[in-house]
Amino acid sequence: MNKTKRAAVIAGNWKMNKTPSEAKTLLEQIIPVAKGADCEVIACVPYVDLAVAIETVKGTNVKIGAENCHWAESGAFTGEISTGMLKEIGVEYVVLGHSERRQYFGETDETVNKRTKAALAAGLKPIVCVGELLWERECNITEEVIARQIKLDLYDISAEDAKKTIIAYEPVWAIGTGKTATADQAEEVCAFIRAQLAKQYDEQTAQAITIQYGGSMNDANAAELLSKENVDGGLIGGASLVAEKFGAIIDAATKG
Ligand code: PEP
Repeated sequence: MNKTKRAAVIAGNWKMNKTPSEAKTLLEQIIPVAKGADCEVIACVPYVDLAVAIETVKGTNVKIGAENCHWAESGAFTGEISTGMLKEIGVEYVVLGHSERRQYFGETDETVNKRTKAALAAGLKPIVCVGELLWERECNITEEVIARQIKLDLYDISAEDAKKTIIAYEPVWAIGTGKTATADQAEEVCAFIRAQLAKQYDEQTAQAITIQYGGSMNDANAAELLSKENVDGGLIGGASLVAEKFGAIIDAATKG
């Protein structure tokens, strides 16, 4: 992390976990452990939990995000949620292009780009996920894959909007598997992403963009990962569902 250059952001991705009443309970446990944090703290929660989550965190430093959004303002898209719907209830962030959306729900770089543009236009801050599959890493094409995702996911997005966007580097082989990228592996790819952003925009823009690492980050490995210059925070799945563990990661970001 380099807090003199950009915001440190610790975000939980709850995935398909927690009913509204369970969400309230977990947030009530997270609020005290997040208090006074020297980093941004976000909980990205299932759609049906959003209203109660926003109500629960009112007046605290915990922010709420959604886990996806559609690109159209409204229309015949059964089962989808628009940016306007999220914005109206007070959502601030939205996770886009998560590997589980890409793997199981046909998300492509083109749709990630459309969703990212729609989110920015509505005033939501996107957390855009990129990352290589294990097979791609083994074939030595990690940089190629990441460069393509960054180029396409941020296609036609201005430098000003790119600065409002968080990039989450999430190697797919490390998500929910207990296999964490080493701090050096995370740093290598996060630095590569920043170099790619500098090519696509300019050095000043690249230096301003928060790049998180995600993939089995937990209370035991967070400090080392966050000690790296280009790792500006974490997107955390499993460990974000346990207030004590999430709090320890927030602590590591605060001290880092
Ligand atoms: C994620 O869902 O974005 C994630 C990184 O999950 P986990 O921390 O469980 O690997």
